Amino acid sequence: MHTETMTATDIAWQEQAMCAQTGADFFFPEPGSSVREAKRICELCPIRSACLEYALIHDERFGVWGGLSEKERLQLRRTRG
Ligand code: SF4
Repeated sequence: MHTETMTATDIAWQEQAMCAQTGADFFFPEPGSSVREAKRICELCPIRSACLEYALIHDERFGVWGGLSEKERLQLRRTRG
């Protein structure tokens, strides 16, 4: 959950989001850059699964959400059907 893309109804999540404390830079790396740091932060995040669902529902195309990269979310969407 990247706070700059949040709507009012999502604000309740903000305080628990690890990325709200670290900043969004890790989560939207330059093309070809590593997402390892972002994923490590997501692993420690208490709202990881909710964040991932949010990204899937809202079709978030860019950045790391819920510990998954853009490609990994695309794969997950395909396997879910
Ligand atoms: S799972 Fe990752 S992207 Fe989602 S709110 Fe937590 S730290 Fe941010």
